[in-house]
Amino acid sequence: MSIEPLAVPVDTWDLFTPSDENDRFESCRACGRSIKKDTPQYVIEREFTRTEPGAPAELAYEFTICESCLADQDASYSPDSQEHIAQFYSDVIDLNVRAEQLLADTSSDEIPNIDAWVERCAVTGMSVEDATRFRVMAYAVGEWLLLAGMPVVMTETALERLESGLSDTTKERARTFATDALHLPPDQYVITPAV
Ligand SMILES: [Zn+2]
Repeated sequence: MSIEPLAVPVDTWDLFTPSDENDRFESCRACGRSIKKDTPQYVIEREFTRTEPGAPAELAYEFTICESCLADQDASYSPDSQEHIAQFYSDVIDLNVRAEQLLADTSSDEIPNIDAWVERCAVTGMSVEDATRFRVMAYAVGEWLLLAGMPVVMTETALERLESGLSDTTKERARTFATDALHLPPDQYVITPAV
């Protein structure tokens, strides 16, 4: 990415801090390496549901994964699925354009307003408050969250659009990885943009 991201403390916002004292954001869920010491970059992913629009959001799952495991997982997908995922993150959500827009009004010597990144679905524009299912994804390095094209929020329609373009083989691999390596609830796919 050509745009220089801003780095802010990862624990500045509740949206990116683990749900309890288990310190589950200390290591990559898949390989167990320390994300704070051993891996240069990692992804925080959390998914939430609501019983109805405006109701309190409940955490469905959360995990951290290192960039190496994420790259390995991406590479295991079928070529057409890899192309679909890459196109989704370059065309449907243009992360570079998004970074330019979000960083345009932010100077590096102030703590930016994270709400600009996460208040709406990056694909549909739907307010997160109205979404009954939404996923938050962020890149981080050590104790720092990187603000550029990410963090990003996707609500249900956007997630279905991303997942609908996957081959059956890829869906099976993504589902197996999610349950076996990440211990997520059944029928989840981990389709996070590789760094
Ligand atoms: Zn890992």
